[in-house]
Amino acid sequence: MPYAQLLPWYDEFKRVLPFRGTRDPYAIWISEIMLQQTRTETVSGYFTRFLRRFPDVRELALADEQEVLKYWEGLGYYSRARNLHKAAKIIHEEYDDRFPRTYEAVRALPGIGDYTAAAICSIAYRLPYPAIDGNLTRVISRVHGVREDVGIPSVKRQIEELGREYIDRERPGDWNQALMDLGATICLPGTPDCARCPLKDKCDAHLEDDAELLPVRAAAKPPKPVQMGVALVTHNGKILVQQRDAALLKGLWVFLLLENDDTPEGLEKKLRSMGIEAQLKTHLGEARHIFTHRIWNMKIYHFEATDVRKKPGYQFVTADELAALPLPTAVKVARKFATELL
Ligand code: SF4
Repeated sequence: MPYAQLLPWYDEFKRVLPFRGTRDPYAIWISEIMLQQTRTETVSGYFTRFLRRFPDVRELALADEQEVLKYWEGLGYYSRARNLHKAAKIIHEEYDDRFPRTYEAVRALPGIGDYTAAAICSIAYRLPYPAIDGNLTRVISRVHGVREDVGIPSVKRQIEELGREYIDRERPGDWNQALMDLGATICLPGTPDCARCPLKDKCDAHLEDDAELLPVRAAAKPPKPVQMGVALVTHNGKILVQQRDAALLKGLWVFLLLENDDTPEGLEKKLRSMGIEAQLKTHLGEARHIFTHRIWNMKIYHFEATDVRKKPGYQFVTADELAALPLPTAVKVARKFATELL
């Protein structure tokens, strides 16, 4: 049994985290969604604040989407927050505010994939589903010596099957969390600390001395750089903002962004097409934001509007109104400039 020492180790060394120790599927769901693509230390503060404002499915379902996004501000990957809200509405309307109790019903909610459904069901309901994320993929591939590209569907399936075979039937949630902790603290990417590992006597990669080469992954494509012009357009003590319609950062508020053209002339032309005559005041600075697939290289300018003829698709807001809107971290530097201008 390669995992015989896992739960005794977990009982002694598990990480104490604010979202641990609960069997409330709602709280587990929120924490698991936050933990996707966000560091554990960052999630702790957000989780406590979010749960205080939206303590159950009903409160979340009845909230305004803009407020939910505001509570998500800074966590990034905002589609996660929009899906949380959508799923809460479904649970409110179709399940009478009670979190669904089967894997299939949980998995069918928006924004919930195999991993999240398995994490919720194993921790809240003790159902034996392995929650295969990056940590579990790494540990399982090392323990069982899986030496093929884990991005290939058949290899992925092999990892899942190993998880299903070896998951502890009595304590499936703890088994998943134990492997997450092991992956986050000992069986690290790069060089694992095998000397401290409870699985070392049974671990194939450790015995074969090739743990740092596993899991095998084809190199990911690097993110594509995009030149982005950013205009902070002031008018009578207010500043121009737009709500994003594009899939990336949809629903969030940004300043005027012009993709693939970071010149003041380009921004001026764009403003004219929106019915705004504006004068360039100054080049405020530059900023960079790295998304998974793109890098925004931003040049930020201050314009003053001299004539505003029509207002479709944008608004001018005061400093207080700007502070209340959900803005993505990508425009953090521009926002700082904007606050100084207002
Ligand atoms: S022995 Fe090393 S490689 Fe194997 S699971 Fe433990 S830390 Fe990971």
